[in-house]
Amino acid sequence: MASQPVITLGQYQKHFLTEKSCYEYLFKMKWPEGFRCFKCGHDTCYAITTRSYPFYECKHCGYQTTLTAGTIFEKTRTDITLWFAAIYLAVQDGSVSTAFIANELEISYQTAWMMMRKIRQALANPKCIAHAPKLSEI
Ligand SMILES: [Zn+2]
Repeated sequence: MASQPVITLGQYQKHFLTEKSCYEYLFKMKWPEGFRCFKCGHDTCYAITTRSYPFYECKHCGYQTTLTAGTIFEKTRTDITLWFAAIYLAVQDGSVSTAFIANELEISYQTAWMMMRKIRQALANPKCIAHAPKLSEI
């Protein structure tokens, strides 16, 4: 896989150590030019950040969306920072085991298995990764 995305530890630390920086990264991935409503194309929104994860409501039509909609993180109950840590580990070592991920991140094997399944699918599928983090473009 020549187009395997690469992420360095430095990039990981810069973008993915806190929930806030993870969401900032996802925001930039989703709306590189700033917010744009998918429904009506309007470019201003209310950012609702009082929930456990931020969501955005179009000021024009009221359409609501999250940063994780349409990504492998959609509807996850796992902390977003753990997701990025798992992606980091998976990118470093393509054959990393689920047990290793579970141990390293101190999460259940079941959770790690579910995450790794989605992450591997995303990394293997360029179309999918286009909507998940583009780690090569950090
Ligand atoms: Zn709208």
